[in-house]
Amino acid sequence: MTVSGAARIAGVLGWPVRHSRSPLMHNYWLRRHRIDGAYVPLAVAPDDFAAALRCLGRLGFVGANVTVPHKRAALAAVDEADDGARRIGAVNTIMVRESGALHGSNTDGHGFIASLAAGAPAWRRAAPAVVVGAGGAARAVVAALADAGVPETRLVNRSPGRAGRLASELGAEGLAVVDWGERGRALEGAGLLVNATAAGLEGAGPLDLDLAHLPLEAVVTDLVYDPLVTPLLAAARARGNPTVDGLGMLIHQAIPGFAAWFGVEPKATAALRRLLERDLAR
Ligand code: NAP
Repeated sequence: MTVSGAARIAGVLGWPVRHSRSPLMHNYWLRRHRIDGAYVPLAVAPDDFAAALRCLGRLGFVGANVTVPHKRAALAAVDEADDGARRIGAVNTIMVRESGALHGSNTDGHGFIASLAAGAPAWRRAAPAVVVGAGGAARAVVAALADAGVPETRLVNRSPGRAGRLASELGAEGLAVVDWGERGRALEGAGLLVNATAAGLEGAGPLDLDLAHLPLEAVVTDLVYDPLVTPLLAAARARGNPTVDGLGMLIHQAIPGFAAWFGVEPKATAALRRLLERDLAR
């Protein structure tokens, strides 16, 4: 990899940022395309976030990703944000314009749909979808499903107030909030089940959801990718449902940023996936 004095530099702002696989992924693509550039982790505490973001242009960065816990703050801090980011209420990708202005977008929904299309091409968009979770990732998923033409999305969240707020703020057509206590029944007739909660993450407990009412042809996908096979995906596979893990979304959400900063549209290849899988296994 070349990193000359003229290198294009991007990075990821997070707190903590050690867990981020974005540097591994973007630097792989930079090497692969022989681009003079680098992508660096930037550990920025919440109190310093707005000031740090302002420095990106002054330091010569071409742009950055934003991860937990800064995505909502990033929307407030950029100079302009596209419609998608404003609708979701969060920014995960920033482009530094020549003028120094910061442009924000959100590629999580794109990454989610692209991963689903690649991992489960037979996914039936005409059937209802069930989304569990009402945080930032769920907002992106619900908006993306509506944009993809899914006629009905059932939204379930442990804390009811949060699901209600998401529904009223997004105002997506065909979106219905279902009580947490009814989550098992909400799976009836579904074509897609999405875990957009943090349950199932390494060290956290599994998602408390009985799959008995889920049709066997329904695709089950988990946004959690550490571990790659979450307890939910393991349970879905055991009963014969097709599954899509969270790594594809991580890869696909990164593509638009790389293309904007470095001028080449990278590919979600099997080799990149293997690299990330090896890293997750360590
Ligand atoms: P967030 O804003 O903090 O929201 C967390 C959500 O998880 C809330 O709905 C919360 O419910 C729910 N939750 C947490 N623990 C739970 C449990 N034990 N049982 C049921 N619900 C639980 O987080 P986020 O940014 O939306 O991210 C959610 C997950 O998606 C994270 O694991 C993140 O790593 C993953 N993610 C993956 C990608 C990818 O590219 N694959 C992209 C973005 C996010 P309450 O409201 O009841 O607290």
